[in-house]
Amino acid sequence: MVKPKKHLGQHFLKDQDIARNIVEALSADNQQRKILEIGPGTGVLTRFLIEKYADNLTLIDIDRESIAYLKKHFQGLGDKVIEGDFLKMDLSHALGEEYTVIGNFPYNISSQIFFKILEEKDKVVEVVCMLQEEVARRLVSPPGNKDYGILSVLLQAYYDMEYLFTVDASVFDPPPKVQSGVIKLRRNKLEKLDCDEVLFKKVVKQGFQNRRKTLRNALKPLNLADEVREQEILNRRAETLSVNEFVKLTNDIASGGNTKV
Ligand code: SAH
Repeated sequence: MVKPKKHLGQHFLKDQDIARNIVEALSADNQQRKILEIGPGTGVLTRFLIEKYADNLTLIDIDRESIAYLKKHFQGLGDKVIEGDFLKMDLSHALGEEYTVIGNFPYNISSQIFFKILEEKDKVVEVVCMLQEEVARRLVSPPGNKDYGILSVLLQAYYDMEYLFTVDASVFDPPPKVQSGVIKLRRNKLEKLDCDEVLFKKVVKQGFQNRRKTLRNALKPLNLADEVREQEILNRRAETLSVNEFVKLTNDIASGGNTKV
């Protein structure tokens, strides 16, 4: 067995039925697509992934001991088992133009994993993953809720998102301190947002920087034009804006307040 390492966020899922349910949450159209498993550990999900996707599977884990274990127990996979840091590695040669991500993510870096997925959003068609329940709920949260944050907006702009189920801490070895949640993301049809996407990201990030302030105050560092500053929408807080309202606000800011609604 592999000795669980806390600094790598290693909590190994023991329950085979839950593992199967996570893998079965993948959409039926994934047969032809590359599948990337992030953090396979000792392969509890891998086992079920191999049954359906053996030819298209790539695994990446940062832990040398887990990699050795996987290579020994799943011999057919050969060079599809990669030792490395998902956050730093360029996997484009292995994954091609379109791929799906699955994993019981290391909870300590789950936000960073999603920022990296967003960089690859035009390739990542689907994500099924387990993470800390609180974070999972936050990501799928609608506006108007204190859970709604930067990643909720950025991800919901490009993905249809769904909370699937909660997993109790007791089914892991060692059990984490928190409950876990499984979510599914599916790339929406939108190729590009209807605004300057770089500015959109800036506005969202800055807006949530001081989430209890009104947008008028929170967005001060962006030096908004006077016409923009007068707008009604800036009386609101970032957490109340839908993706579309952020898009509109981004366009207002870009044009110095002269957009016709
Ligand atoms: N999928 C397994 C293990 C989940 S624990 C299970 O469900 O039992 C999280 C896994 O992510 C561990 O195996 C850990 O080694 C790996 N991991 C942690 N940081 C990583 C990183 N930066 N890149 C890739 N894998 C990482």
